[in-house]
Amino acid sequence: MSKPLILIVEDEAALATMLRYNLEKEGYRVCEAGDGEEALAVAAEQKPDLALLDWMLPSLSGIEVCRQLRRKQASRDMPIIMLTARGEEGDKIRGLNTGADDYMTKPFSLPELMARVRALLRRAQPVAQKGTLCFADISMDMAAHRVTRGERTVHLGPTEFRLLQFFMHHPGTVFSREELLNSVWGPDIYVEPRTVDVHIRRLRKALNEGDCADLIRTVRAAGYSLDSETADQS
Ligand code: CA
Repeated sequence: MSKPLILIVEDEAALATMLRYNLEKEGYRVCEAGDGEEALAVAAEQKPDLALLDWMLPSLSGIEVCRQLRRKQASRDMPIIMLTARGEEGDKIRGLNTGADDYMTKPFSLPELMARVRALLRRAQPVAQKGTLCFADISMDMAAHRVTRGERTVHLGPTEFRLLQFFMHHPGTVFSREELLNSVWGPDIYVEPRTVDVHIRRLRKALNEGDCADLIRTVRAAGYSLDSETADQS
């Protein structure tokens, strides 16, 4: 089995070199792009398993690169970690909303970045489980990694896929943000609880497209559950 290929999109040469050195030391293969246009070309050609994407890039911004990667079949499911010098909460949410899976503010801790890379790659791996999970009109074909709602195919990023899979295993149970972080993201990395809200919003949007009943229940001060009681039965 070949080692995972990581795409580094970074215009600061010194930072790109440092990232390459450390990723290769961890056993990953690395490809690089120095600007947004090149990032899209390299992603299409080499099909990396994960991308580290700088926010401030020449030609196209990291946000725009992220958006375009998500629109393409080949990179729709690729985990993306945004790297940024900005620390504003609003920017973070904006980054996650355009399709990034994680977000780190420079200067970041290298061990933490490596932990997040490992966690995301693990989450993106095809789930060993076979068979189909069903709830209401949602079905998840685990072998094909395919989600449908009624007749419609639902496109989910790796985090939303794992989140839905977790809910499908425990329908009707309310989970706090911390419980979801531990079970879906893994206990070994620190992610802010608000990140859960962003991914829940993305999952909801994908599931509910075309005016479907909302099956994800928000329980005030408690968390979230997958629950058909919330569905409009009429
Ligand atoms: Ca930059």
